[in-house]
Amino acid sequence: MKAYPSELQQKVLAQEAPGDVPVALNIIIPSVTKPGEMFDAKVIVLDKAGYPSLKCECSVRVQIPEQDVVEIAFRRGIPAVGRLQNIRLVNEGLFRLSASCNNLKAYSNPTFCTLEDIPGIYWGDPHVHTVLSNCHADKSRSLNFCFTAARHLSALDWVAATDHVSNGRCDFSKWKEQRAVAELYNDPQEFVTLPAYEASFKSGAGGDNNVYMPSFPDIFTDEYENGNVKTLCNKLTDAMSADAFFVVPHHTTRQGKHGEISDEIYPGPDAMPVIEIHSKWGTSEYRGNPNPLKKIHEGPSYATDLLNRGLKMGFVAGTDSHATMPSGGGDEPDHLDRLPGMTAIRCAELTRQSIFNAVKHRQCYAASLERIIMHGSIAGRAFGEELHFADLTTPPEINVLVAARSDITGIDIVRNGTTIHTITPNSWKAQIMYEDREDLSAVQIKSRYLGNFIYYYVRVTCESGAQAWSSPVWILG
Ligand SMILES: [Zn+2]
Ligand SMILES: [Zn+2]
Repeated sequence: MKAYPSELQQKVLAQEAPGDVPVALNIIIPSVTKPGEMFDAKVIVLDKAGYPSLKCECSVRVQIPEQDVVEIAFRRGIPAVGRLQNIRLVNEGLFRLSASCNNLKAYSNPTFCTLEDIPGIYWGDPHVHTVLSNCHADKSRSLNFCFTAARHLSALDWVAATDHVSNGRCDFSKWKEQRAVAELYNDPQEFVTLPAYEASFKSGAGGDNNVYMPSFPDIFTDEYENGNVKTLCNKLTDAMSADAFFVVPHHTTRQGKHGEISDEIYPGPDAMPVIEIHSKWGTSEYRGNPNPLKKIHEGPSYATDLLNRGLKMGFVAGTDSHATMPSGGGDEPDHLDRLPGMTAIRCAELTRQSIFNAVKHRQCYAASLERIIMHGSIAGRAFGEELHFADLTTPPEINVLVAARSDITGIDIVRNGTTIHTITPNSWKAQIMYEDREDLSAVQIKSRYLGNFIYYYVRVTCESGAQAWSSPVWILG
């Protein structure tokens, strides 16, 4: 029988992240499934650092809902990374699988099993550094490891290696290597490597931004010495075209980085469709949030500060891992001690272009630690979309189906950056409906970009500390 993952991939994992004795089980399934349709469950046994154990000799027993128990056996000396194929669910609903091995027990992430024709949810880490960044090189790992770990250890659908280019940290030869290895691992419909890099500015104005593209240009574009995020976008537009890239600001509340994105340097919603609201640095959602960065910029650079000015941004989250551990684990530099972030993308297929297009149109949401399902609408629009006040015939209704691995302790409805309603399900799944009966003409914000508007989004918090943030829905004048 063919090895899974391949012997070469097992070697990459064993060489760069040899795991010690098992302390945790991870079992991952697709977030959207159909009754009767087959899917794989990825089963991973981890050591205390989150590396795949080389000392696991047990069989992991997995209970499929309403069906049998299936087993997967691991051998000493081989990374405990495997998959169970041909699993299917019989009925519609929200389900988790449960797994056990000796004294270890775990639930899988939830799946929404439905006959409705809805897009898939593809999970990825848009922000991973490798040794090519030359930043904490003692902690980081190879590009080979980045892609192998993202696909097999983290069981992600897609990843972006966002190595630093600015201040002399990349050149043509490194870029060529980055491009070649990303092409090697890109496997459309199975696993996507999204072309990307990180650009910084000497002045700090606009903070640090990642650049994402559906394909690799011959060379990256940088504006480190004298530029800002707007001049970077102008240069990128000249180098390719406006629809061939977008930029994502991250840790906008980091001290000294001036992540306010002032009117002078805001490149507009097409070039900057989303903000990275959370990473291992912490959360930049609003001042006073429970997981802030360690050293915070004094200016108004939180996501809600930017949204309240009329900047139209959806949400993504990543790790910003400098240990090259996509979606979590590893021995990071001290400042990266918060929960790992991930991005959920809603699209019909798994290709570079479809992942790129979905984020460009804000068809995505952000999460930390867990693959939280959020499926719903606000005033009849999907998260990330907009409507006009004239389209409203009834008060805006927020409908959302939420499920997580651990119990959900809070679901907050946020309007214009302020929580207006909280539900406390204390269960791993919940279906909520809330109608906002406020006089909307009294709460509109005026902005130079959107005119009079309001926006809503939904925030989920779990017992494990995991959170998720839907992209907003905007109601415009
Ligand atoms: Zn760095
Ligand atoms: Zn970074």
